[in-house]
Amino acid sequence: MNIMVTNDDGIHAAGIRALAEAMAQLGTVTVVAPDRERSAAGHSLTLHSPLRVFELHKGWYAVDGTPTDCVNMGIHSMLPVTPDLVVSGINHGANLGDDVTYSGTVAAAMEANLMGIPAIAFSLATFEPSVHFVDAAQIAVRVARQVMANGLPPDTFLNVNIPNCPRDSMQPPLITRQGKRSFIGKIVDKTDPRGRKYFWVGSEEPNPNDEPGTDFHAINRCHVSITPLHLDLTNHKTVPILEKWQF
Ligand code: MN
Repeated sequence: MNIMVTNDDGIHAAGIRALAEAMAQLGTVTVVAPDRERSAAGHSLTLHSPLRVFELHKGWYAVDGTPTDCVNMGIHSMLPVTPDLVVSGINHGANLGDDVTYSGTVAAAMEANLMGIPAIAFSLATFEPSVHFVDAAQIAVRVARQVMANGLPPDTFLNVNIPNCPRDSMQPPLITRQGKRSFIGKIVDKTDPRGRKYFWVGSEEPNPNDEPGTDFHAINRCHVSITPLHLDLTNHKTVPILEKWQF
């Protein structure tokens, strides 16, 4: 089996090393990842400048682009064959609820899904510096094994969040739906040493909706959360409502 590994934390992140090393249990691994952190890059593509690739060591390629660029480059240019699986992560920090729309980790899996390749995004739900990526990577292998054994339904990729819980308190995986966060974003407004104002997107207040069945609910209780995602953002329930409008 050929497996491509990417992320949005950059090729030097601890999470991608753990994921790539663990995935080697399942097949031949090629890493194609951003040369620096590109968290919150979403599904962006680099169109107005060239991309450069650096082979750091055998099978490890750093690209000066976004996670989506890496998937494109890997599949259309660097990998000799189309991979059987694309895995993204392990992100340092959860990708729950609305976060999936900002996430470069999730977007990389989305890009592979657009190409018809089975894809999984993995995130570890903590921002603490000392985290257990190696244990999380073993969970990632178990999920990948199930994907390869069963095959994903059409137009589906997985968003997997792994709780930052000790191994003995880890609960079994739950299939979840994407939750919702009441977004309380804030902009930090300060003055630089030259007297000019600057603005910085601040961290969001943790105010997730903890409804049963959601990814938040699972992670808050030490369950691995597995959310099947697809790219159809249509709000199907509202189509009949809008059809009655007099345009
Ligand atoms: Mn990230």
